[in-house]
Amino acid sequence: MEQEKKVAVVTGAARGIGKSIAAKLADEGIALVITDVMMEQAEETAGELAQKGVETLALKADVSNAQEVEELFKKIVDKFGTVDYLVNNAGITRDNLAIRMSETDWDMVLDINLKGSFLCAQQAAKIMMKKRSGSIVNISSVSGLLGTAGQANYASSKAGVIALTKTLARELGGRGITVNAITPGFIITEMTDKLPEEVKDGYLKQIPLKRGGTPEDIANAVNFLISPAASYITGTVINVSGGLVI
Ligand code: NAP
Repeated sequence: MEQEKKVAVVTGAARGIGKSIAAKLADEGIALVITDVMMEQAEETAGELAQKGVETLALKADVSNAQEVEELFKKIVDKFGTVDYLVNNAGITRDNLAIRMSETDWDMVLDINLKGSFLCAQQAAKIMMKKRSGSIVNISSVSGLLGTAGQANYASSKAGVIALTKTLARELGGRGITVNAITPGFIITEMTDKLPEEVKDGYLKQIPLKRGGTPEDIANAVNFLISPAASYITGTVINVSGGLVI
């Protein structure tokens, strides 16, 4: 008997951690929606992943825009008929000391990282509730647990993502939907590559496992959380930080 095709939506999946997550899920035979603001790169990623023999679709959407998110999920349902997994990965930084941080930089980071996760989860949950199954994984950050100097906006958004995760786990558990968060530590991507060398060295000194994480380390944790092996896990936060936070 042919197994029912599963469909995952990964936001901010054109590159970085999101692309790795999408690639890992494609290896598992899951159809992938690659959504990002960078359409050209999203299409490239979708093309690459299609080589793995799964259906892929690249769609442009700014996760902080409610209308675009609503249209995004309509298009996904038109093409695939359903959504089984949502990975809220899209995120940005606009670092500065709190006393120098502009209102625009505060708003932009909260809008994309926190409101974006809420808007996508809201649309996905409506679809998942009807079928009484689904998994949502939110990509938070160790900054949301520890606070980070120079990241008042980012750390607050990522702490908010943890509270959102726990709240949604309580609201959606009765409908068979799991909601969990991952807090990556220092992961080597374009986002962290632009950090000054002394900041990177500072992180490495604090990591018991003595290396920066890879996007694949995060992808493996996402793959576990959406798998049947994690079906009794909801409302949790998994640290993937090499021990940066213990
Ligand atoms: P990245 O390389 O910058 O990738 C993020 C992707 O999200 C980019 O393609 C970006 O497009 C896209 N994006 C930005 N704004 C968007 C929006 N409004 N709507 C849709 N997509 C949008 O970052 P990353 O390092 O892979 O990080 C992925 C996630 O992991 C983020 O949530 C980040 O906070 C979290 N994280 C990363 C680390 C780390 O060490 N790298 C640590 C902890 C947590 P543009 O390039 O056009 O902005």
